[in-house]
Amino acid sequence: MNRIAIANQKGGVGKTTSAINLATGLAVAGLRVLLVDFDPQGNASTGLGIDQTSRAKSSYQLITGGARLDEVVRATSVPKLDIVPATQDLSAIEVELVDEADRAHRLSAALDQADGRWDICLIDCPPSLGLLTINALVASSSLLVPLQCEFFALEGLSQLLHTVERVRARLNPDLTILGIALTMYDRRNRLSEQVAQDVRAVIGDLVFKTIIPRNVRLSEAPSHGLPALVYDHRCPGSEAYMALSRELIGRLPQTTAAAA
Ligand code: ADP
Ligand code: MG
Repeated sequence: MNRIAIANQKGGVGKTTSAINLATGLAVAGLRVLLVDFDPQGNASTGLGIDQTSRAKSSYQLITGGARLDEVVRATSVPKLDIVPATQDLSAIEVELVDEADRAHRLSAALDQADGRWDICLIDCPPSLGLLTINALVASSSLLVPLQCEFFALEGLSQLLHTVERVRARLNPDLTILGIALTMYDRRNRLSEQVAQDVRAVIGDLVFKTIIPRNVRLSEAPSHGLPALVYDHRCPGSEAYMALSRELIGRLPQTTAAAA
């Protein structure tokens, strides 16, 4: 199972929207997908229709040893897409695991229980570089970074890349950067275009060709408990996420891509 962390310590840049719609796009393309909601806010769980009250078992139990992977996984309304939901108690993890020597490896060890049921796993990270994101980076073979097309987009990216270097040096030498996805692009706004150009000039090939436009359908869909790709699969946002899913598959190792 190929594992990809979706991370950026900034909030509101499109991590969860990308996690939900890429997970759906990859499932539509034929891959068996597991989405791990690793943000205490649980937005990915809500956005996929998993009710707050029905999350007795969640990613919290998974990494504190209270439950096995097969006990916390839930099916979604999307065929081939399962989710490990998140709950608020995940926010206490930093304190709870402070004395545990293996605290950065908890998610990695939990996902090792997967045994062939899924081709790919996406991990939706919280907006910080704390222990949860570190766990996701240790558990993953690569990282996808959503970057909002706004003035401060590049600020913060260097800090994130520095964290990736530290994780590589000490915890997960195999971690690579799968790509940077530009999100919330507004073609009527010249700043958006400028930011897209600047980002390409600085990080070049790492940036996915597909740009995600600002599209109100993408922000409406979660309130219906559906991925935009299901809620309105023909809106520009959905089409972009489908294109990004295909581009992502093109960057996966042969063994995973072949399943699509
Ligand atoms: P993060 O997970 O990084 O905090 P979200 O994916 O939750 O970011 O996005 C933040 C807000 O912006 C949400 O309300 C979401 O619905 C909205 N949003 C995200 N991407 C888009 C987009 N391309 N167009 C319009 N709204 C978007
Ligand atoms: Mg989020």
